[in-house]
Formats: sequence, C-alpha cells, structure tokens
Amino acid sequence: MKDIPYKTYLTEDELPGAWYNMRADMKVKPAPLLNPATMKPVTADELERVFCRELVRQELDDSSQFIPIPDEVLRFYRMFRPSPLVRAYFLEKALGTPAKIYYKFEGNNTSGSHKLNSAVAQAYYAKAQGLKGVTTETGAGQWGTALSMACAFFGLDCQVFMVKCSYEQKPFRREVMRTYGADVTPSPSMKTAVGRAINAAHPGTTGSLGCAISEAVEAATSQEGYRYVLGSVLAQVLLHQSIIGLESHAAFRKLGERPDVIIGCAGGGSNLGGLIAPFMGEKLRGEADYRIIAVEPASCPSFTRGRYAYDFCDTGRVCPLQKMYTLGHDFIPSASHAGGLRYHGMSATLSELYSQGLMEARAVEQTSVFAAAQQFARVEGILPAPESSHAIRAAIDEALRCKEEGRSETILFGLTGTGYFDMVAYQKFNDGSMCDYIPTDGELEQSFAKLPPQP
Ligand SMILES: *Cc1c(COP(=O)(O)O)cnc(C)c1O
Repeated sequence: MKDIPYKTYLTEDELPGAWYNMRADMKVKPAPLLNPATMKPVTADELERVFCRELVRQELDDSSQFIPIPDEVLRFYRMFRPSPLVRAYFLEKALGTPAKIYYKFEGNNTSGSHKLNSAVAQAYYAKAQGLKGVTTETGAGQWGTALSMACAFFGLDCQVFMVKCSYEQKPFRREVMRTYGADVTPSPSMKTAVGRAINAAHPGTTGSLGCAISEAVEAATSQEGYRYVLGSVLAQVLLHQSIIGLESHAAFRKLGERPDVIIGCAGGGSNLGGLIAPFMGEKLRGEADYRIIAVEPASCPSFTRGRYAYDFCDTGRVCPLQKMYTLGHDFIPSASHAGGLRYHGMSATLSELYSQGLMEARAVEQTSVFAAAQQFARVEGILPAPESSHAIRAAIDEALRCKEEGRSETILFGLTGTGYFDMVAYQKFNDGSMCDYIPTDGELEQSFAKLPPQP
C-alpha cells in the first residue's frame, strides 16, 4: 500500500487536523445542484440566502483534498474524539467466524450519534458569520439533538422542525433538545406557508422529513440573521463526517491491518460517506481496493430500487434539484423504526460512486435488523440504534459468508449510535409484533411518475 498523505494531518492526540474531501479524487464529479427555476447549476449567491457562507464554499468545492478543521471545532471534538475502534471479539466468537470484525463506535457522546461531528462544524461557521441562529428539521431526533448541543456550546438560537410522528412518539428526544435550549415545533406546522399548505392538502398527516425540510428552509429565509442547516445528504456533511474514516484509517495503520470489507447504514449517506472517505480515496487513486457496502431498509430502498435522476430534496420543492438515487420526493416510507434512514434520496457523491460500480448496496428487513441488534447487544454490550443495526446485520451476514467460505477477511462497520430512545421499537421486536414492509413496484412507479423533467 502506497504511503498516503492522511497521516500528515493527524494532531498529536491522533485527531485528524483536516477533513478529507473525497470529491477531489473523483474523476467524474457528482452532478451539480440545479436551480429548479432555471435548470442551471445553483450559484454560491443563491445558496448563501439559505446556507452559511463557509458551508456553501465547502459544498461547491470539489477540488480541495483537505480542508483544515478550525481550532474551536477541534476543541469540541476533543470532548468525545477520537471515537473508539473496537474489535468485536465476542461477536466473532458467537458467530464462530474466521473473519475479524471491527466497529467504529460513534454513540459515545451525549447526543448518541455521529451527527454531532457535522453539527459542531455547522454551528461554528454560523457563529463565525455573526448569525443569530439556525433552523433545521429532524426525523427521529438525533440530528436535532446534536445540533441543539452544538448551538448551546456556541451560543446560537436553534429552531427545530420535528416530523410530527416522531414528536409524538419520542417525547424524550424532544425534551433533550429543549434542555439544550432548542425551540421544537412538530411538522407540518401552521407556522410556515408550506406547512399550512401541506396540512391543507393532507389533513391529519404525521409528516415526513421532506415536509420538515421545506418548513425549516422557509423559517430560515423569512427571519433576519438565520440560516438553514442540514444533517445529512449534502457534500459538506460528508466532508465533516470524514473524521470517522480518517480516525479509522489511522487506527488500522497503527494495527498494521487493513479492512477488506467496509459496511455502513445509509439514510442520506453521511456516516457511510464519512467512514469510507479515505479508503475510497485510495480506491479512486488506484492505491488499494476495498469492498464497500451500503445497507438500507427494505422499506426505503433508495440505492437498490431507486432511480438515478435529478429530484427535489424536499416535499415542498423549495430546495435545489440534486442528481441522486431517489424514490421520488413524494415518497413517504412506511412507519419503520429506523427513522434516520427514512429519506427518499441519497448523497450525490455516494450516488455517483455507486453508479460507477465503486460500491455495493443491499436492502434488509427490519425484523432481521432487530435480530442482529439483539445478538450484538447480548455479546458486545452496546445497545445499538436501529439505524446502526442495519450495518450490524450486513456485518454478521458477511462474517457468516467468511465462515462458509473459510476466509479470514477483515470487516469494518460503522456503529453510528445508541438506541436508548428507541425502546418502543425494541419492545415491538421483543413482543413479536414488529412487521416488515416492502413497497410494491406499483407504489414506487407512482412516485417515480412525479420526478421533475430531467435536464
Ligand atoms: C441519522 C442517522 C443515520 C443515517 O444518516 P446518514 O446520513 O445516512 O448517516 C444512521 N445512524 C444514526 C444513529 C443516525 O442518527
């Protein structure tokens, strides 16, 4: 393996001092975001009305390999990073596999997931720009929780539109956000024009991530000194999450090992994009090869059954068009328990890599995901988030394949968070009342029919 530049960027305590931008090493770049009115690539000026200035710069930068992490952000990272890379000895033994299994655990902070890595960066840039506050949406609540912590730290106002069904089902997450000072509104609400329109068109709706995004964008653009921030999907979020992969890469070098297979769950693609970043960089530069697997819920199968097309990122169609694997912006997945994986689209960067055959994807059903979560919890001790458990499912399946084939491969998977706020889901699984839902081809076709005209 060629000597790689990543180690140059490690600080003394082995924390990366720069984020790595995978797009710099892609020969075919992700397709640009389009302004739906003109069908031309969005400009920095247009984006700056919605997003923070420095984050827009990062979003549009597909050529800088490394972007230094500001000292204030590094200082915050030191509270919980580097995150542990753990060898799952007990799981290996329970499975009787010759494979080595490692997981990178991102649930080791109060917000309980990897989302804090980007929340801190985004809150920092908003503060540095002199803004009063930020608005956002949250589905299951992890992003809102992470952002409220980051905003409390930097002294920013934080307005969260929380998908109504989660708001009602997860009162504790809501209270964590309020404890950190966030203002939490169930979405669709009557506070925004788009929320009122969605409520009028779908009376009694319990909302979706796409609706909540539209509301949060409107709230940002209609208040002086506010910008909108997003916890996944965007290239800037994958950039911040590259810290997961850079730390893993450094740890593997220290161990003198390398993973053969890298696995992550995929909602909007940020944890997976972050975990694989430096490894994919080597793959793109022809220095090493890895199998990379995205795992998504069978109820919301963007990669495995979606279309690679330009689509809206939100139901209210206020955001730019992005070329991505999508189920259609109108697609509302069934009420699965992996709230963080219920997004209709996917990161444009990962979509382009997937379309080039540089990574694989598979869809798994939720009862098999919870069976994996339970098995993992019993032997490894950590109670995993339902989202993360999609990666556990695939890691176990790969380890069992190794057993069958008698191969001692090294498997790395991203354990994105803990599941303490998901006990209703665990209860359903324990009671045997959890079911699987897979959309029919007909349902997906209906949703594809509403894709916008392609450029
Ligand atoms: C949000 C979330 C995910 C999925 O989001 P990505 O952007 O695809 O990483 C996965 N796991 C947890 C714990 C989450 O909170």
